[in-house]
Amino acid sequence: MRGEGKKGFSTTAVHGGEEPCPVTGAHAVPIYQTSTFVLGRELPPRYVYTRHGNPTQEVLEKKVALLEGGEAALATASGMAAILVSLLALVEKGRKVGCSLAVYGGTYALARNLLPRLGMEVLMFDPRRREEVERVLGMGAEVLFLETPTNPTLDLVDLREVCGLAGEHGAKVVVDNTLMTPYYQRPLELGAEVVVHSATKYLCGHGDSLGGVVVGRRELVEEARRMLVLTGGAISPFNAWLIVRGIKTLPLRMERHSRNALRVAEFLSSHPRVKRVSYPGLPSHPQHGLARRQMRGFGGMLAFELEGGMEEAYRMMEGLELVKCAVSLGDVSSLIEHPASMTHRSLPEEERERIGIGEGLMRMSVGVEDAEDIIGDLEKALGALG
Ligand SMILES: *Cc1c(COP(=O)(O)O)cnc(C)c1O
Repeated sequence: MRGEGKKGFSTTAVHGGEEPCPVTGAHAVPIYQTSTFVLGRELPPRYVYTRHGNPTQEVLEKKVALLEGGEAALATASGMAAILVSLLALVEKGRKVGCSLAVYGGTYALARNLLPRLGMEVLMFDPRRREEVERVLGMGAEVLFLETPTNPTLDLVDLREVCGLAGEHGAKVVVDNTLMTPYYQRPLELGAEVVVHSATKYLCGHGDSLGGVVVGRRELVEEARRMLVLTGGAISPFNAWLIVRGIKTLPLRMERHSRNALRVAEFLSSHPRVKRVSYPGLPSHPQHGLARRQMRGFGGMLAFELEGGMEEAYRMMEGLELVKCAVSLGDVSSLIEHPASMTHRSLPEEERERIGIGEGLMRMSVGVEDAEDIIGDLEKALGALG
């Protein structure tokens, strides 16, 4: 995959959007830890105030735009800020937006509780079913918001098909690409209008800062920036810098996350306490063929179902030492959580059931530790269930 001009993805991850400081020659990206900028005669001034723009934020924006193959990008304080301002930029008051049921729990709550208060009509749908996509488009949704793989179930949405159907209705598709990152999946190439990220996850990679990114056509990104200036979700220069630094090793980390996740998925598949494993890289995944076409790798996220439900899920997590029970994902450390009571508890039970979030479902973000140690920890905790 090629990123910037003739340069490859990894080269762009390291160098994209950066240049040595013209004043000092500093090779590493400087952290412009300032709220305001002294104004001279230059009109309009390049920088005014960090809520409107800052050189360290700008490096992150240029880098992610190049990696996603978009015209421009906007860095934000968190993934939620990126999702909010991208929808504010795309959807007018009184218009309809379709939101996938199988998304990050915070996105679900935003769609259910806040967007309607801003005057948007939200239609929830299951993007894995063609008839549901056609239903919400037929009802007049102008924008569809979705994630693939779905969260937390790791099913796939066929991006070419959904973007094609949306295009026939003059609708636009926004894809949250947090789980795959542009290293493994580039939705803009498959017809999406906008890509959003929680940069808190794999882009940062080290679990030490919050951030978000919106990528798309320049006018749209500039409209999202106006919305960000008004709603206040600017990223701190230091967090932008941490994420820039994280992205430099994104390809290396994703390959290790992916290799480890496949080994963990194979181990879990053969374990008697585990009813079902969902990992797009397993040939047993019902959409493995689509995964091979749509993604360049399978990533570090997997879901599995325990025979014993919630009680057993908690007992298992208590038995783990290396793998930590925590929400979030994309960290170098392995993390595990129980979606029905944690990330996805804001969904009513019947909606959880509809998208396959049972009481025994676990979501795991496989880290970059030694695979043997991760598997050893899981083996011990599952063994202790008796
Ligand atoms: C974490 C997450 C978000 C929200 O991002 P924050 O940085 O926590 O605001 C959105 N989408 C997905 C897929 C996520 O995993």
